[in-house]
Amino acid sequence: MYRRIVLLLLIALSFNVRATEGMWIPTLLEAVESDMQSFGCELSAEDIYSVNKSSLKDAIVHFGGGCTAEVISSQGLLLTNHHCGYSQIQSHSSLENDYLKNGFWAKNFGEELPNKGLTATFIVEMMDVSDALIDLAFSNPEAFEKKKAELIAERLKGSAFEEAVIRPFNYGNSYFMIITKTFSDVRLVGAPPSAVGKFGGDTDNWVWPRHTGDFSMFRIYANDKNEPAEYKENNQPYEAPRHLEVSLNGVKEGDFTMVFGFPGRTEQHLLSTQVEYVVERANPMRLAMREASLDIIDRAMRSSDKIRIQYAAKQSGISNAYKKWIGQNKGLIELKAIDQKKELEKSYVKLAEVKGLEAAELPAQINALALKNHDYQLARDGFIEWYYYGPELPSFAWGFNDVINNYEVLKEKGELEGRIAAMKAANKAFFKDYNQEIDEKIFDVLTELYVQHIRKDLQPNAFSVLQDKFKGEVKAYRQMAYKKSIFTNEKELDNMLNDLAQGNTKKWKKKLAKDPIFKIGESFVSGYYAKVRPTYNELNGEIEEKMHHYVKNMMLLFPNKTYWSDANSTLRLTYGKAEGSTPRDGIVYKSFTTADGIIEKYIPGDADFDLPADLVALLSKEDYGIYAAEDGELHVCFTGSNHTTGGNSGSPALNSKGQLIGLNFDRTWESTMSDILFDPVRCRNIMVDIRYILFIVDKYANAQRLIDEMTLVVGEELPEMEIAPLEMAK
Ligand code: ASP
Repeated sequence: MYRRIVLLLLIALSFNVRATEGMWIPTLLEAVESDMQSFGCELSAEDIYSVNKSSLKDAIVHFGGGCTAEVISSQGLLLTNHHCGYSQIQSHSSLENDYLKNGFWAKNFGEELPNKGLTATFIVEMMDVSDALIDLAFSNPEAFEKKKAELIAERLKGSAFEEAVIRPFNYGNSYFMIITKTFSDVRLVGAPPSAVGKFGGDTDNWVWPRHTGDFSMFRIYANDKNEPAEYKENNQPYEAPRHLEVSLNGVKEGDFTMVFGFPGRTEQHLLSTQVEYVVERANPMRLAMREASLDIIDRAMRSSDKIRIQYAAKQSGISNAYKKWIGQNKGLIELKAIDQKKELEKSYVKLAEVKGLEAAELPAQINALALKNHDYQLARDGFIEWYYYGPELPSFAWGFNDVINNYEVLKEKGELEGRIAAMKAANKAFFKDYNQEIDEKIFDVLTELYVQHIRKDLQPNAFSVLQDKFKGEVKAYRQMAYKKSIFTNEKELDNMLNDLAQGNTKKWKKKLAKDPIFKIGESFVSGYYAKVRPTYNELNGEIEEKMHHYVKNMMLLFPNKTYWSDANSTLRLTYGKAEGSTPRDGIVYKSFTTADGIIEKYIPGDADFDLPADLVALLSKEDYGIYAAEDGELHVCFTGSNHTTGGNSGSPALNSKGQLIGLNFDRTWESTMSDILFDPVRCRNIMVDIRYILFIVDKYANAQRLIDEMTLVVGEELPEMEIAPLEMAK
C-alpha cells in the first residue's frame, strides 16, 4: 500500500516538466489537473470524469470495440470517423447503392440502417482495485482469478445492464475494474462520399498537410425503457443523458486541446532487444507480406467497380497498418531508438547498483528472454498476417469446424440450430465480397513469404505437403487445393448446411476430412496452438513479470520523469495544444489546412484525389456561412500536441470548456513511432475541424435535421436551438 502511494505521488510530482506525452486514466486526473489548467483548460478533473454527477465521460463511447465515438445530441446521435464506420458503410453498399462512392444520408429515423454486431459501450465507472489484487497477481494466480471474480460479482449485484472487467495497467502495477453498459442496436445515419471521408486515400494517410473529412454518423437505439436491446425495428433513439456541445468558435494555434477516447496499445517501456525485434524482424516481414497483397488488391480494385466495393474495407484494413509501420521504422531508426533504450538500460543498472537493488539484473534478463522469444513471436505475427490478413478461404473454411466437429456437443447444448443459421448468413456474406482469383494470387505470394520468414519447425504441418509432395512449388500446391476444395462453392456449402440441419453429418465429415483448404485452415490454427503459443506464452509470462518490477523500479529510480500507463483500450484523456511542428530541418508544418488545399489536390479521375463535381462547385463558391473561420476560410484539418494512438480514431477533440471542436483521426508521418517512443517536438495528432464536418452535413448533404439535433455554441452564448422531436418518422 505504502509503495503504491509513493508511486502515485511520483506520478503527480513528476510534473515540474510540462509535457504533452501521456494518456491519462480519467480517475487520476487530479494529478494533472493544475498542469492542464496551466495549458488553458477551464474544467476541473471532476467535470471530465465523475461518478457522482454528469461529466464529459458520459458522452464518450467505445465504438465497435476498436474506435471511439461521441454522443452529439440528446437523441443518441454519434459522431465517429469515416474509417471507423467504413466496414458498415461498405457492407450496405452495392453497385446500385454505392454509399462508398456517393455517401449515404438517412432522411429520417426510419431510414437509418442497422448494423449486425456493431456496439457502443459507455463507461459507467472505473474503480481502482489494485490493493486487493497486486500481491496475488504473480504469487498466486488461482487466488488472483478468484478474487477478480468475487470483486466483479460483488459490484454487479443487482445491476441488469452492466458488465465489468478487471484490467492490469502498467504491467500489473495497478488494476482497475471497468464497469460498462453496451448498446447493440447502432444504426448508420450518414456518411459523406469517400472523396470527402477518405480524400487523399493511401497517398495522404498518415501524412500532413491533410484535407480529409474523415467522419460518419451513427445513432444508438434502445428499448422502450431506454435500455440496451438487440436490434428491433421499433427500438427508439436512445435518450442520452449527456451529449457534447458543438463549438463553432473554432480553434487557434496555441489553444488548449484535449482528446478523450480509447487508445488501443502503446509500448513505451520496450527494452532494446524488443525494439530491435520490431524494427529488424517483425516490420520487415509484415511490410513484405502486406505490400505483396496490396499490390494484387489495389490493381484489382482499380479494374472494376464491383471489386472496388467488395475489397474496400479489407484493403484499408491491410494498408493502414502497412503505411504506419513504414513510418514507424523510419522514425525509430532516425531517433536511434535502440541506442536510446540501451542507454536507458545502462543508467538503470548503474542507479540500481548504487541503491543496492537486486533488480539491477532485470534489463539483461528481460533482453535475454525477449531474444529467446523472437522466433516464436515472429511465428505468431506470421500466423496473424497469413491467416487473418492473407488468403481468405482457409480461415473461412475452418470457421465451419464447429458445426462439423462439435456437432453433437452443439446439439446437446441446444445451440446447433442457431450455429447453422449463423453459418448460412456467414456463407452469404463471405461470397458477397469474395473474388477467388484475387484470393489465389494472395495465397501464392503470402505463402512464399511466410515460408521464407518463419522457422521451419514452427510452420503448420500442412506445409510439409507443400514441401514433400509439391517440392515447394506453391503455385501447384495452391491450384490443387482450390480445385479440390468445396469451400469455393457457395451453393455446395449451403447444401452442406441444409444436410447438417437434417442430421446428415456422415458424408460431410468424410468430405471435409479430406478437403485441402479445410485442412490448411486447421493446420494453421492447430500448428499455432501446438508449436508456437505454449513457448511464446511461457516466455512472455516471464517477461511480463520482470517488466512489472522493471517499470516499478524505473519510477523509483527516475522520479523526475513523467509516468503514465501504456494504452490498453481503456478510456484515457490526453491534452496539449493546437500546434504545428518542425518535423525535420527546413520544414515547418502549419497547424491547419483550408478548403483551398482540397481544390489544389483535386485530380479528376484519380483514385485518391478525385472529387464529385457538385462538391467542387460548392467549394468554389467559397460561401462558408457560419462555418467560416475568423480568416474567412473554411478550415479543414488541424494538428495538435495530443498524445494519441490507434483506437483514438473518432475521439472528440475538445476545447478548454469541453466543447467539441474537431474529430481525431490520424497522426503525422513523423509521429508514427510514438507508440514506442514519443518525441514532443515532432509528434502531432490530426483532427478534422468540426466546422468542416458541419459544412458538409449542412451545405453538401442537406442533412439539416442532424444539425438541428445538436447543441451549437457560437460566441459565449448558446444560440437558439431546435431539438428535433423524438418520434419515429416513418
Ligand atoms: N489513423 C489512426 C488509426 O488508424 C489513428 C492513430 O493511430 O493515430 O487508428
